[in-house]
Amino acid sequence: PDEGALAARWDATLGPDALDAPEEELAAAMHAGLGATRRAVKGALLDQGVVAGLGNIYADESLFLARVHPLRPGRSLRPREREALAAAAREVIRRAVEAGGSTLRDYADADGRVGAAQLAHAVYGRGGEPCVACARPLATTLVTQRTTVWCAGCQPRRPAARGGRGVAAGAVTEGVAAQGVAAAGDRPGTGLETGLGAGHERG
Ligand code: ZN
Repeated sequence: PDEGALAARWDATLGPDALDAPEEELAAAMHAGLGATRRAVKGALLDQGVVAGLGNIYADESLFLARVHPLRPGRSLRPREREALAAAAREVIRRAVEAGGSTLRDYADADGRVGAAQLAHAVYGRGGEPCVACARPLATTLVTQRTTVWCAGCQPRRPAARGGRGVAAGAVTEGVAAQGVAAAGDRPGTGLETGLGAGHERG
């Protein structure tokens, strides 16, 4: 096969690689891929056309790190939130590579437990357990028929206009923390939002 043509087709359908692409390129991809869409940001992230290499596990981890609620429409994210998401995706994948050795990826079409299982996840697989940052029970729902876990305190549906408090030490890097938005307690929440927005993602 013509490798050039293959590469071109590959590039046309996949976003930049969350591990290898420069951070500016990832941020640009987030702006382009999320800036105008009404889709839930989690669903958009699972579509490898925005950023490649971000499967279900790492999408949840990235959203937590960036303090972005998974069901917010992509276009509702502020530019700094899209940049925080780019930085978070890169960080999450980098850690996974370091922890997982040769099993690098959590591809969207696989559950990716191998390798990823070696990481201590902040949210993935921890629905109902206390948030590592604020101790609120983590919420769970389905987005694009994939289990999605997040913290209603750290990832408010309606973030405050200003924020500054980062996620707790150990859960986030300084760079992402500095861009963190809103504070816990933005709204009381129930910790359980099962079913929200799950319907329109299908198909
Ligand atoms: Zn929290």
